[in-house]
Amino acid sequence: MRSLRVKLIMAFVLTSVLGIGISAFFIQQFVVREFDDYVINQRRTTFVDEARTYYSTYRSWAGVERWLAPMNNDNSPKGKSPADDLHGPNDFAGKRDAMRWFFVVVDADGRVVVPFQNYRLGQLVPPYERDQGKPVVVDAQTVGYVLTPQRGGFRNPAEEDYLARTSRALGLAAIVVMTIAVLVGIILTRLMIRPLRELTAAIQQVAGGKLQQQVPVRSRDEIGILAMQFNRMSADLARANQLRQQMTADIAHDLRTPLTVISGYLESLRDKVLKPTPERFATLYAETQILLHLVDDLHTLSLADAGELTLNRQFIIPRDLLDHVAATYQHSAEQHNVSLVVQAHEDASPINVDVEQMTRVLSNLISNALRYTPPQGQITLSSRTTETATQIIVADTGSGIDPAHLPNIFERFYRVDSSRHQETGGSGLGLAIIKSIVELHAGTITVESVPERGTTFIITLPHP
Ligand code: ADP
Repeated sequence: MRSLRVKLIMAFVLTSVLGIGISAFFIQQFVVREFDDYVINQRRTTFVDEARTYYSTYRSWAGVERWLAPMNNDNSPKGKSPADDLHGPNDFAGKRDAMRWFFVVVDADGRVVVPFQNYRLGQLVPPYERDQGKPVVVDAQTVGYVLTPQRGGFRNPAEEDYLARTSRALGLAAIVVMTIAVLVGIILTRLMIRPLRELTAAIQQVAGGKLQQQVPVRSRDEIGILAMQFNRMSADLARANQLRQQMTADIAHDLRTPLTVISGYLESLRDKVLKPTPERFATLYAETQILLHLVDDLHTLSLADAGELTLNRQFIIPRDLLDHVAATYQHSAEQHNVSLVVQAHEDASPINVDVEQMTRVLSNLISNALRYTPPQGQITLSSRTTETATQIIVADTGSGIDPAHLPNIFERFYRVDSSRHQETGGSGLGLAIIKSIVELHAGTITVESVPERGTTFIITLPHP
């Protein structure tokens, strides 16, 4: 198989050879035709002059063929001709030697008076053909026409030589242009192939498992865009791979901690080192709840990833949704000594959401807010309607999130303070699940946070 480079160079060569060859051919044809037209015109003008002189001298065409016809046949006239009286014998003979005529003369009626080729003496030519001829005018009267039946074969050696030189120059120019075209083709091909070669090498590396590859972006054209997209894809791939590895490690870690506790308790109970008290069973139960919660979260995420988390949408006024969730958490908020308030218009336009999933989203946000908001703090649930969307906002006056962590908090297993999760019970999957659910609703979730001042999560749901 030939390489792309060879193919491109061949395409350049073929295109330039064809293009320049065809142009050179047509230019040559044009030059020859124009040149011939010019020569014919020149000669015909002289010929018409001679015919006019003859006619104005003799007032008739009679005998004209004896003088002009032999010239048509390239026979030098022998002896004296009536026209010699007009010019002197050497004058006209000189012109005759320099030129060879190829013309027919017909009289005003179209009858041939100077024959040539198929045009026989006395033959009548059709009027349309006669009218195409050059008129011979004597005393303001058209007395005949000069026809030009043949357009080639009349050049003299000097003229032939001139045309040959023109063709040679044209050929030379074509060769020079073709050489330049091929050189430019080779350079362009080299420039085009280079990024493709780099991309191929990088793709081979990716296929070999080295996912993080970057190729230089050398242009803004399609190949440049391809290189740019490849770089992005490779970075995403490497990141996804790293996340996957991280996630497996995180899952293992999160499973191990409660399992170690459970296993330790069970061992001690089996060996009767510990007595089976309700408190101990309560601890065991709590650990299994953590495990169940984790498995449940993972299941939800895998469903969302596979696109199998179906939504059971219904219309609901945002205020009703917020009131419903707030009511569930009111007691817990009071226990934390945190006030939980709802600020939303009752007549705002309804949103079309899966109420169960949205409740899950808001519950997660509120339980996070409760976790990070100190006593005397406030959690505000509100909604506002813009032209294109409805926003649901969960704001707290808690510890806030360090700006360095902010871009990552929606990632799976991401915890700002990983050592605190056991104590606070978070798996680091909550916000990832929230994001998946909101995106399933074609919405977005953003976060704004000021450390020690509070955090605000904004869910934007486009109008149905
Ligand atoms: P977790 O299950 O650990 O809470 P999330 O995904 O819900 O995991 O949250 C990720 C991290 O974001 C948390 O570890 C926490 O540090 C931070 N975070 C979430 N919500 C808040 C909030 N309201 N205030 C401060 N930090 C928050």
